[in-house]
Amino acid sequence: MAMAASYDVVVIGSGPGGYAAAIRCAQRGASVAVVEKGVFGGTCLNRGCIPSKALLASAHTLLLAKRAAMMGVEIGSATANWPKMQGRKEAITGGFRKGLTGLVESNGVKIMPGRAIVTAPKQVKIETDTAPVEIGAENIILATGSEPIELATAAFDRETIISSKEALELQEIPKSLIIIGGGIIGCELACVYAAVGTKVTIVEALSRLIPMEDEWVGRLIEREFKKLGIEAMINQKVAAADKTNGSVRVALEGGETIEAEKVLVSVGRKAVCDEETIEALGLEMNGPAIVVNEKMETNVGGVYAIGDAVGTTYLAHGAFAEAEVAAENATGGDAKMGDYSLIPRAVYTFPEVASVGKCEGVCREEGLDVTVGRAFFKANGRSVGHNETVGEIRVVREKASEKIMGVTMVGAAVTELVAGARALIGSRERPAEVSFPHPTVSEVLKEAWEDAFDVSLHKPPRP
Ligand SMILES: Cc1cc2nc3c(=O)[nH]c(=O)nc-3n(C[C@H](O)[C@H](O)[C@H](O)COP(=O)(O)OP(=O)(O)OC[C@H]3O[C@@H](n4cnc5c(N)ncnc54)[C@H](O)[C@@H]3O)c2cc1C
Repeated sequence: MAMAASYDVVVIGSGPGGYAAAIRCAQRGASVAVVEKGVFGGTCLNRGCIPSKALLASAHTLLLAKRAAMMGVEIGSATANWPKMQGRKEAITGGFRKGLTGLVESNGVKIMPGRAIVTAPKQVKIETDTAPVEIGAENIILATGSEPIELATAAFDRETIISSKEALELQEIPKSLIIIGGGIIGCELACVYAAVGTKVTIVEALSRLIPMEDEWVGRLIEREFKKLGIEAMINQKVAAADKTNGSVRVALEGGETIEAEKVLVSVGRKAVCDEETIEALGLEMNGPAIVVNEKMETNVGGVYAIGDAVGTTYLAHGAFAEAEVAAENATGGDAKMGDYSLIPRAVYTFPEVASVGKCEGVCREEGLDVTVGRAFFKANGRSVGHNETVGEIRVVREKASEKIMGVTMVGAAVTELVAGARALIGSRERPAEVSFPHPTVSEVLKEAWEDAFDVSLHKPPRP
Protein backbone atom coordinates (compact mmCIF):
# COMPACT_ATOMS: atom_id res chain seq x y z
CA MET A 1 0.00 0.00 0.00
CA ALA A 2 1.49 3.32 -1.08
CA MET A 3 1.72 6.26 1.32
CA ALA A 4 -0.63 8.85 -0.26
CA ALA A 5 0.42 11.91 1.69
CA SER A 6 1.56 13.09 5.06
CA TYR A 7 -0.08 15.69 7.29
CA ASP A 8 0.86 17.61 10.42
CA VAL A 9 -2.44 16.55 11.94
CA VAL A 10 -4.91 13.79 11.00
CA VAL A 11 -8.28 14.03 12.72
CA ILE A 12 -10.44 10.89 12.86
CA GLY A 13 -14.14 11.71 12.98
CA SER A 14 -15.96 14.84 11.75
CA GLY A 15 -18.43 15.50 14.58
CA PRO A 16 -18.26 18.75 16.57
CA GLY A 17 -15.02 17.54 18.17
CA GLY A 18 -13.33 16.47 14.95
CA TYR A 19 -14.32 19.25 12.56
CA ALA A 20 -13.64 21.96 15.16
CA ALA A 21 -10.18 20.51 15.89
CA ALA A 22 -9.44 20.28 12.16
CA ILE A 23 -10.37 23.92 11.50
CA ARG A 24 -8.44 25.20 14.54
CA CYS A 25 -5.30 23.21 13.56
CA ALA A 26 -5.51 24.61 10.01
CA GLN A 27 -5.99 28.14 11.34
CA ARG A 28 -2.79 27.64 13.32
CA GLY A 29 -0.90 26.84 10.13
CA ALA A 30 -0.91 23.02 10.14
CA SER A 31 -1.58 20.77 7.17
CA VAL A 32 -4.69 18.82 8.19
CA ALA A 33 -6.80 15.89 6.98
CA VAL A 34 -10.10 14.85 8.57
CA VAL A 35 -11.34 11.31 7.95
CA GLU A 36 -15.03 10.41 8.22
CA LYS A 37 -16.49 6.94 7.74
CA GLY A 38 -20.12 8.01 7.88
CA VAL A 39 -21.91 11.28 7.20
CA PHE A 40 -19.92 14.49 7.58
CA GLY A 41 -20.81 16.39 10.77
CA GLY A 42 -21.10 13.35 13.06
CA THR A 43 -23.86 12.55 15.52
CA CYS A 44 -24.62 16.15 16.44
CA LEU A 45 -25.49 17.37 12.97
CA ASN A 46 -26.98 14.20 11.47
CA ARG A 47 -28.69 12.24 14.26
CA GLY A 48 -28.36 14.33 17.42
CA CYS A 49 -28.53 17.96 18.45
CA ILE A 50 -29.67 19.59 15.21
CA PRO A 51 -32.37 17.16 13.94
CA SER A 52 -33.80 16.74 17.45
CA LYS A 53 -34.05 20.52 17.93
CA ALA A 54 -35.66 20.92 14.49
CA LEU A 55 -38.39 18.41 15.41
CA LEU A 56 -38.77 19.96 18.88
CA ALA A 57 -39.28 23.37 17.25
CA SER A 58 -42.05 21.99 14.99
CA ALA A 59 -43.65 20.25 17.98
CA HIS A 60 -43.47 23.46 20.03
CA THR A 61 -45.03 25.49 17.22
CA LEU A 62 -47.93 23.02 17.18
CA LEU A 63 -48.42 23.40 20.94
CA LEU A 64 -48.34 27.20 20.64
CA ALA A 65 -50.89 27.07 17.82
CA LYS A 66 -53.19 24.95 19.97
CA ARG A 67 -52.91 27.52 22.76
CA ALA A 68 -53.29 30.50 20.45
CA ALA A 69 -56.96 31.13 21.30
CA MET A 70 -56.12 32.11 24.88
CA MET A 71 -53.72 34.74 23.46
CA GLY A 72 -56.63 36.15 21.48
CA VAL A 73 -55.63 34.52 18.20
CA GLU A 74 -58.20 32.32 16.46
CA ILE A 75 -56.56 29.92 14.01
CA GLY A 76 -58.99 27.01 13.98
CA SER A 77 -57.63 23.56 14.57
CA ALA A 78 -53.89 22.97 14.38
CA THR A 79 -52.62 19.53 13.38
CA ALA A 80 -49.24 17.93 12.75
CA ASN A 81 -48.08 17.45 9.15
CA TRP A 82 -45.44 14.87 10.08
CA PRO A 83 -43.93 14.35 6.60
CA LYS A 84 -43.46 18.13 6.38
CA MET A 85 -41.88 18.25 9.85
CA GLN A 86 -39.50 15.46 8.84
CA GLY A 87 -38.79 17.12 5.49
CA ARG A 88 -37.98 20.41 7.18
CA LYS A 89 -35.62 18.63 9.58
CA GLU A 90 -33.86 16.91 6.66
CA ALA A 91 -33.53 20.21 4.79
CA ILE A 92 -31.98 21.84 7.85
CA THR A 93 -29.41 19.09 8.45
CA GLY A 94 -28.65 18.80 4.72
CA GLY A 95 -28.10 22.55 4.45
CA PHE A 96 -25.76 22.64 7.42
CA ARG A 97 -23.87 19.57 6.17
CA LYS A 98 -23.21 21.29 2.86
CA GLY A 99 -22.19 24.51 4.57
CA LEU A 100 -19.93 22.74 7.05
CA THR A 101 -18.16 20.72 4.35
CA GLY A 102 -17.50 23.92 2.41
CA LEU A 103 -16.28 25.72 5.53
CA VAL A 104 -13.85 22.94 6.47
CA GLU A 105 -12.48 22.77 2.92
CA SER A 106 -12.20 26.54 2.69
CA ASN A 107 -9.78 26.32 5.64
CA GLY A 108 -7.55 24.09 3.53
CA VAL A 109 -8.48 20.90 5.40
CA LYS A 110 -8.51 17.74 3.26
CA ILE A 111 -11.72 15.73 3.82
CA MET A 112 -11.11 12.00 3.33
CA PRO A 113 -14.07 9.58 3.34
CA GLY A 114 -13.52 6.13 4.83
CA ARG A 115 -12.81 4.31 8.08
CA ALA A 116 -9.49 5.37 9.56
CA ILE A 117 -7.43 2.98 11.63
CA VAL A 118 -4.19 3.93 13.27
CA THR A 119 -1.78 1.11 12.35
CA ALA A 120 1.31 2.48 14.11
CA PRO A 121 2.33 5.79 15.65
CA LYS A 122 2.17 8.41 12.87
CA GLN A 123 0.48 6.00 10.41
CA VAL A 124 -3.18 5.94 9.48
CA LYS A 125 -4.83 3.47 7.12
CA ILE A 126 -8.09 4.57 5.50
CA GLU A 127 -10.47 1.87 4.30
CA THR A 128 -12.38 3.33 1.38
CA ASP A 129 -14.95 1.95 -1.08
CA THR A 130 -12.06 1.18 -3.38
CA ALA A 131 -8.45 0.45 -2.32
CA PRO A 132 -7.19 1.36 1.16
CA VAL A 133 -5.01 4.44 1.47
CA GLU A 134 -2.20 5.00 3.95
CA ILE A 135 -1.37 8.49 5.17
CA GLY A 136 1.30 9.82 7.48
CA ALA A 137 0.34 11.83 10.55
CA GLU A 138 2.75 13.77 12.73
CA ASN A 139 -0.12 14.15 15.23
CA ILE A 140 -3.44 12.32 15.48
CA ILE A 141 -6.66 13.55 17.08
CA LEU A 142 -9.15 10.77 17.81
CA ALA A 143 -12.71 12.17 17.70
CA THR A 144 -14.55 8.92 17.04
CA GLY A 145 -17.67 9.74 19.07
CA SER A 146 -20.12 7.39 20.76
CA GLU A 147 -23.07 5.07 20.17
CA PRO A 148 -26.34 4.39 22.00
CA ILE A 149 -26.07 1.90 24.86
CA GLU A 150 -28.04 -1.26 24.16
CA LEU A 151 -30.06 -3.06 26.83
CA ALA A 152 -29.78 -6.84 27.03
CA THR A 153 -33.44 -6.90 28.09
CA ALA A 154 -34.53 -4.79 25.09
CA ALA A 155 -32.09 -5.34 22.22
CA PHE A 156 -32.42 -3.02 19.21
CA ASP A 157 -34.10 -4.39 16.11
CA ARG A 158 -34.12 -0.82 14.74
CA GLU A 159 -37.81 -1.10 13.73
CA THR A 160 -39.88 -1.64 16.82
CA ILE A 161 -37.16 -1.45 19.48
CA ILE A 162 -35.25 1.61 18.37
CA SER A 163 -32.49 4.03 19.33
CA SER A 164 -32.62 7.82 19.11
CA LYS A 165 -31.31 7.60 15.53
CA GLU A 166 -34.41 5.75 14.29
CA ALA A 167 -36.67 7.78 16.58
CA LEU A 168 -35.60 10.92 14.72
CA GLU A 169 -36.40 9.32 11.36
CA LEU A 170 -39.78 7.61 11.88
CA GLN A 171 -41.87 7.98 8.74
CA GLU A 172 -45.16 7.85 10.65
CA ILE A 173 -46.27 9.08 14.04
CA PRO A 174 -46.54 6.01 16.29
CA LYS A 175 -49.81 5.66 18.21
CA SER A 176 -47.89 4.75 21.34
CA LEU A 177 -44.27 4.83 22.44
CA ILE A 178 -42.51 3.49 25.51
CA ILE A 179 -39.29 5.33 26.23
CA ILE A 180 -36.83 3.42 28.41
CA GLY A 181 -34.67 6.06 30.11
CA GLY A 182 -35.82 9.47 31.35
CA GLY A 183 -32.56 11.34 30.73
CA ILE A 184 -31.96 14.16 28.28
CA ILE A 185 -32.55 12.36 24.98
CA GLY A 186 -35.51 10.32 26.26
CA CYS A 187 -37.25 13.39 27.68
CA GLU A 188 -36.66 15.53 24.57
CA LEU A 189 -38.07 12.85 22.25
CA ALA A 190 -40.98 12.31 24.65
CA CYS A 191 -41.90 15.98 24.10
CA VAL A 192 -41.71 15.68 20.30
CA TYR A 193 -43.96 12.64 20.13
CA ALA A 194 -46.40 13.68 22.87
CA ALA A 195 -46.94 17.01 21.07
CA VAL A 196 -47.85 15.29 17.80
CA GLY A 197 -50.30 12.92 19.47
CA THR A 198 -48.38 9.78 20.47
CA LYS A 199 -49.26 8.24 23.82
CA VAL A 200 -45.85 8.36 25.52
CA THR A 201 -44.79 6.41 28.61
CA ILE A 202 -41.31 6.90 30.09
CA VAL A 203 -39.82 4.13 32.23
CA GLU A 204 -37.00 5.43 34.43
CA ALA A 205 -34.96 3.19 36.75
CA LEU A 206 -33.91 6.05 39.07
CA SER A 207 -36.14 8.08 41.35
CA ARG A 208 -36.79 10.97 38.96
CA LEU A 209 -36.64 12.26 35.39
CA ILE A 210 -33.48 14.13 34.31
CA PRO A 211 -31.70 12.47 37.24
CA MET A 212 -28.41 14.32 36.69
CA GLU A 213 -30.04 17.53 37.98
CA ASP A 214 -31.39 18.41 41.44
CA GLU A 215 -34.49 16.59 42.61
CA TRP A 216 -36.84 19.58 42.23
CA VAL A 217 -36.05 19.70 38.51
CA GLY A 218 -37.22 16.14 37.93
CA ARG A 219 -40.36 16.70 40.00
CA LEU A 220 -41.28 19.86 38.08
CA ILE A 221 -40.64 18.22 34.71
CA GLU A 222 -42.74 15.20 35.69
CA ARG A 223 -45.62 17.51 36.65
CA GLU A 224 -45.40 19.43 33.36
CA PHE A 225 -45.05 16.21 31.34
CA LYS A 226 -48.36 15.02 32.82
CA LYS A 227 -50.01 18.07 31.26
CA LEU A 228 -48.59 16.99 27.89
CA GLY A 229 -50.04 13.52 28.42
CA ILE A 230 -46.65 11.90 29.11
CA GLU A 231 -46.77 9.26 31.81
CA ALA A 232 -43.54 8.83 33.80
CA MET A 233 -43.04 5.51 35.57
CA ILE A 234 -40.13 6.14 37.90
CA ASN A 235 -38.16 3.67 40.05
CA GLN A 236 -39.04 1.03 37.45
CA LYS A 237 -36.64 -1.31 35.71
CA VAL A 238 -37.34 -3.22 32.53
CA ALA A 239 -37.18 -7.01 32.89
CA ALA A 240 -37.93 -7.93 29.26
CA ALA A 241 -39.28 -6.53 26.01
CA ASP A 242 -41.10 -8.98 23.75
CA LYS A 243 -42.29 -8.22 20.27
CA THR A 244 -45.84 -9.27 19.56
CA ASN A 245 -47.90 -8.71 16.44
CA GLY A 246 -47.17 -5.08 15.57
CA SER A 247 -46.28 -3.97 19.08
CA VAL A 248 -43.88 -4.55 21.96
CA ARG A 249 -44.80 -5.78 25.40
CA VAL A 250 -42.49 -4.48 28.13
CA ALA A 251 -42.38 -6.36 31.42
CA LEU A 252 -41.24 -4.34 34.40
CA GLU A 253 -39.31 -5.87 37.31
CA GLY A 254 -42.16 -4.85 39.62
CA GLY A 255 -44.47 -7.26 37.77
CA GLU A 256 -46.44 -4.82 35.63
CA THR A 257 -46.58 -5.18 31.84
CA ILE A 258 -47.04 -2.26 29.45
CA GLU A 259 -47.41 -2.31 25.68
CA ALA A 260 -46.75 0.12 22.83
CA GLU A 261 -46.30 0.24 19.07
CA LYS A 262 -42.62 1.15 19.50
CA VAL A 263 -40.00 1.18 22.25
CA LEU A 264 -37.22 3.75 22.29
CA VAL A 265 -34.22 2.71 24.37
CA SER A 266 -32.39 5.85 25.54
CA VAL A 267 -30.33 4.78 28.52
CA GLY A 268 -27.21 6.73 27.61
CA ARG A 269 -24.37 6.62 25.12
CA LYS A 270 -20.99 4.95 25.26
CA ALA A 271 -17.68 6.07 23.80
CA VAL A 272 -16.37 4.27 20.71
CA CYS A 273 -12.90 3.78 19.28
CA ASP A 274 -11.79 1.11 16.79
CA GLU A 275 -10.24 -1.96 18.44
CA GLU A 276 -7.46 -2.02 15.81
CA THR A 277 -6.42 1.52 16.78
CA ILE A 278 -6.54 0.75 20.51
CA GLU A 279 -4.35 -2.30 20.01
CA ALA A 280 -1.87 -0.83 17.54
CA LEU A 281 -1.21 2.16 19.78
CA GLY A 282 -1.61 0.40 23.13
CA LEU A 283 -4.08 3.12 24.15
CA GLU A 284 -4.95 3.33 27.82
CA MET A 285 -8.71 2.91 28.14
CA ASN A 286 -11.27 3.34 30.89
CA GLY A 287 -13.95 0.89 29.71
CA PRO A 288 -14.95 2.11 26.24
CA ALA A 289 -13.51 5.63 26.81
CA ILE A 290 -10.01 6.75 25.82
CA VAL A 291 -8.05 8.00 28.84
CA VAL A 292 -6.69 11.54 28.42
CA ASN A 293 -5.06 14.13 30.65
CA GLU A 294 -6.12 17.79 30.95
CA LYS A 295 -4.22 18.56 27.73
CA MET A 296 -6.34 15.94 25.90
CA GLU A 297 -3.18 13.84 25.43
CA THR A 298 -3.53 10.07 25.45
CA ASN A 299 -0.80 7.84 26.88
CA VAL A 300 0.80 7.81 23.39
CA GLY A 301 2.91 10.80 22.34
CA GLY A 302 1.36 12.86 19.52
CA VAL A 303 -2.03 11.18 19.90
CA TYR A 304 -4.91 13.21 21.35
CA ALA A 305 -8.54 12.25 21.98
CA ILE A 306 -11.60 14.44 22.42
CA GLY A 307 -15.38 14.53 22.58
CA ASP A 308 -17.66 11.59 23.28
CA ALA A 309 -14.73 9.20 22.64
CA VAL A 310 -13.22 10.29 25.97
CA GLY A 311 -16.56 9.99 27.81
CA THR A 312 -16.33 13.27 29.72
CA THR A 313 -19.42 15.33 28.88
CA TYR A 314 -21.22 13.54 26.01
CA LEU A 315 -22.13 17.06 24.84
CA ALA A 316 -21.35 18.77 21.56
CA HIS A 317 -20.06 21.93 23.26
CA GLY A 318 -17.96 19.72 25.56
CA ALA A 319 -16.42 18.29 22.39
CA PHE A 320 -15.88 21.85 21.04
CA ALA A 321 -14.07 22.84 24.24
CA GLU A 322 -11.83 19.78 24.15
CA ALA A 323 -11.17 20.31 20.43
CA GLU A 324 -9.77 23.78 21.16
CA VAL A 325 -7.33 22.31 23.69
CA ALA A 326 -6.24 19.34 21.55
CA ALA A 327 -5.82 21.53 18.44
CA GLU A 328 -3.66 24.01 20.28
CA ASN A 329 -1.47 21.28 21.79
CA ALA A 330 -1.18 19.35 18.50
CA THR A 331 0.17 22.50 16.85
CA GLY A 332 2.83 23.46 19.36
CA GLY A 333 0.69 25.23 21.98
CA ASP A 334 0.20 24.53 25.66
CA ALA A 335 -3.49 24.49 26.59
CA LYS A 336 -5.41 22.77 29.37
CA MET A 337 -9.08 21.99 29.91
CA GLY A 338 -10.66 24.15 32.59
CA ASP A 339 -13.33 23.24 35.12
CA TYR A 340 -15.77 20.79 33.49
CA SER A 341 -18.61 21.89 35.77
CA LEU A 342 -18.57 25.24 33.91
CA ILE A 343 -19.65 23.55 30.69
CA PRO A 344 -23.40 24.29 30.67
CA ARG A 345 -25.98 21.51 30.56
CA ALA A 346 -29.12 22.06 28.50
CA VAL A 347 -32.27 20.00 27.98
CA TYR A 348 -34.71 21.24 25.32
CA THR A 349 -37.89 19.82 26.83
CA PHE A 350 -41.20 21.67 27.35
CA PRO A 351 -40.27 23.45 29.63
CA GLU A 352 -36.52 23.57 29.13
CA VAL A 353 -33.89 22.75 31.74
CA ALA A 354 -30.43 24.31 31.93
CA SER A 355 -27.72 24.47 34.52
CA VAL A 356 -24.10 25.48 34.98
CA GLY A 357 -21.62 25.11 37.79
CA LYS A 358 -22.34 22.98 40.82
CA CYS A 359 -26.01 22.41 41.63
CA GLU A 360 -27.27 22.56 45.21
CA GLY A 361 -27.18 18.77 45.65
CA VAL A 362 -23.52 18.53 44.61
CA CYS A 363 -22.55 21.47 46.86
CA ARG A 364 -24.24 19.85 49.85
CA GLU A 365 -22.63 16.46 49.05
CA GLU A 366 -19.26 18.25 49.09
CA GLY A 367 -20.11 19.70 52.52
CA LEU A 368 -20.31 23.31 51.33
CA ASP A 369 -22.48 25.65 53.36
CA VAL A 370 -24.69 27.25 50.72
CA THR A 371 -27.72 29.45 50.44
CA VAL A 372 -30.13 29.18 47.51
CA GLY A 373 -31.77 32.18 45.81
CA ARG A 374 -35.05 31.43 44.03
CA ALA A 375 -37.18 33.30 41.53
CA PHE A 376 -40.23 32.28 39.55
CA PHE A 377 -41.33 32.82 35.97
CA LYS A 378 -44.94 33.46 37.06
CA ALA A 379 -43.77 36.72 38.69
CA ASN A 380 -41.97 37.96 35.56
CA GLY A 381 -43.79 40.44 33.31
CA ARG A 382 -42.43 39.17 30.00
CA SER A 383 -43.06 35.51 30.90
CA VAL A 384 -46.67 36.26 31.85
CA GLY A 385 -47.08 38.22 28.61
CA HIS A 386 -45.77 35.21 26.70
CA ASN A 387 -48.04 32.84 28.62
CA GLU A 388 -44.89 30.95 29.68
CA THR A 389 -45.28 31.08 33.45
CA VAL A 390 -43.98 27.66 34.44
CA GLY A 391 -40.61 27.30 36.07
CA GLU A 392 -38.04 28.64 38.42
CA ILE A 393 -34.39 29.66 38.61
CA ARG A 394 -32.16 28.79 41.56
CA VAL A 395 -28.81 30.44 42.20
CA VAL A 396 -26.54 28.70 44.72
CA ARG A 397 -24.13 30.88 46.76
CA GLU A 398 -21.46 29.63 49.10
CA LYS A 399 -21.90 31.52 52.37
CA ALA A 400 -18.26 31.80 53.43
CA SER A 401 -16.73 32.89 50.12
CA GLU A 402 -19.86 34.69 48.88
CA LYS A 403 -19.16 33.01 45.52
CA ILE A 404 -21.90 31.86 43.16
CA MET A 405 -21.35 28.11 42.79
CA GLY A 406 -24.06 27.19 40.31
CA VAL A 407 -27.32 28.10 38.60
CA THR A 408 -30.16 25.70 37.76
CA MET A 409 -33.13 26.75 35.66
CA VAL A 410 -36.39 25.26 34.47
CA GLY A 411 -38.58 27.35 32.17
CA ALA A 412 -39.18 28.54 28.63
CA ALA A 413 -35.98 29.37 26.73
CA VAL A 414 -33.67 28.87 29.72
CA THR A 415 -31.19 27.15 27.40
CA GLU A 416 -30.66 30.64 25.94
CA LEU A 417 -30.08 32.13 29.43
CA VAL A 418 -27.52 29.65 30.67
CA ALA A 419 -24.50 31.19 28.89
CA GLY A 420 -25.30 34.44 30.73
CA ALA A 421 -25.70 32.55 34.00
CA ARG A 422 -22.18 31.17 33.48
CA ALA A 423 -20.83 34.71 33.85
CA LEU A 424 -22.13 34.87 37.44
CA ILE A 425 -19.92 32.02 38.57
CA GLY A 426 -16.73 33.31 40.10
CA SER A 427 -17.74 36.93 39.36
CA ARG A 428 -17.16 39.55 42.07
CA GLU A 429 -20.01 41.70 40.77
CA ARG A 430 -23.17 42.11 42.80
CA PRO A 431 -26.68 42.17 41.28
CA ALA A 432 -27.11 45.90 41.90
CA GLU A 433 -24.08 46.62 39.69
CA VAL A 434 -25.47 44.77 36.66
CA SER A 435 -28.37 46.02 34.57
CA PHE A 436 -30.70 43.50 32.95
CA PRO A 437 -33.07 44.76 30.21
CA HIS A 438 -36.70 45.17 31.25
CA PRO A 439 -39.02 43.49 30.53
CA THR A 440 -37.10 40.30 29.73
CA VAL A 441 -37.19 36.72 30.89
CA SER A 442 -33.56 37.21 31.98
CA GLU A 443 -34.84 39.27 34.92
CA VAL A 444 -35.84 35.99 36.59
CA LEU A 445 -32.12 35.20 36.72
CA LYS A 446 -31.34 38.60 38.22
CA GLU A 447 -34.08 38.15 40.82
CA ALA A 448 -32.74 34.71 41.83
CA TRP A 449 -29.21 36.15 41.96
CA GLU A 450 -30.49 38.95 44.23
CA ASP A 451 -32.30 36.42 46.39
CA ALA A 452 -29.06 34.45 46.82
CA PHE A 453 -27.70 37.62 48.52
CA ASP A 454 -31.02 38.18 50.31
CA VAL A 455 -31.63 41.45 48.43
CA SER A 456 -34.55 40.45 46.21
CA LEU A 457 -36.39 43.54 44.94
CA HIS A 458 -39.72 41.98 44.07
CA LYS A 459 -40.15 39.42 46.83
CA PRO A 460 -42.17 40.48 49.86
CA PRO A 461 -40.06 40.79 53.03
CA ARG A 462 -39.59 37.52 54.91
CA PRO A 463 -41.83 37.33 57.97
C1 LIG B 1 -30.63 12.51 19.89
C2 LIG B 1 -29.43 13.28 20.39
C3 LIG B 1 -29.56 14.61 20.73
C4 LIG B 1 -28.46 15.32 21.19
N1 LIG B 1 -28.63 16.63 21.53
C5 LIG B 1 -27.58 17.34 21.99
C6 LIG B 1 -27.72 18.72 22.31
O1 LIG B 1 -28.81 19.30 22.17
N2 LIG B 1 -26.64 19.39 22.76
C7 LIG B 1 -25.43 18.77 22.92
O2 LIG B 1 -24.47 19.43 23.34
N3 LIG B 1 -25.25 17.47 22.61
C8 LIG B 1 -26.30 16.74 22.15
N4 LIG B 1 -26.12 15.43 21.80
C9 LIG B 1 -24.78 14.83 21.97
C10 LIG B 1 -23.86 15.24 20.81
O3 LIG B 1 -24.44 14.84 19.59
C11 LIG B 1 -22.50 14.57 20.99
O4 LIG B 1 -22.00 14.88 22.28
C12 LIG B 1 -21.53 15.08 19.95
O5 LIG B 1 -21.96 14.77 18.65
C13 LIG B 1 -20.14 14.47 20.18
O6 LIG B 1 -19.27 14.93 19.21
P1 LIG B 1 -17.99 14.07 18.78
O7 LIG B 1 -17.29 14.90 17.76
O8 LIG B 1 -17.25 13.64 19.97
O9 LIG B 1 -18.58 12.74 18.13
P2 LIG B 1 -19.64 12.46 16.99
O10 LIG B 1 -20.49 13.64 16.71
O11 LIG B 1 -20.32 11.21 17.37
O12 LIG B 1 -18.76 12.23 15.71
C14 LIG B 1 -17.90 11.14 15.60
C15 LIG B 1 -17.69 10.85 14.15
O13 LIG B 1 -16.58 9.98 14.01
C16 LIG B 1 -16.82 9.10 12.96
N5 LIG B 1 -15.93 7.95 13.12
C17 LIG B 1 -15.87 7.08 14.15
N6 LIG B 1 -14.90 6.19 13.97
C18 LIG B 1 -14.31 6.50 12.80
C19 LIG B 1 -13.24 5.93 12.07
N7 LIG B 1 -12.56 4.90 12.50
N8 LIG B 1 -12.90 6.50 10.90
C20 LIG B 1 -13.57 7.58 10.42
N9 LIG B 1 -14.60 8.14 11.07
C21 LIG B 1 -14.96 7.62 12.25
C22 LIG B 1 -18.31 8.76 13.10
O14 LIG B 1 -18.83 8.28 11.89
C23 LIG B 1 -18.87 10.11 13.50
O15 LIG B 1 -19.31 10.84 12.38
C24 LIG B 1 -27.19 14.70 21.31
C25 LIG B 1 -27.04 13.35 20.94
C26 LIG B 1 -28.14 12.65 20.48
C27 LIG B 1 -27.96 11.22 20.08
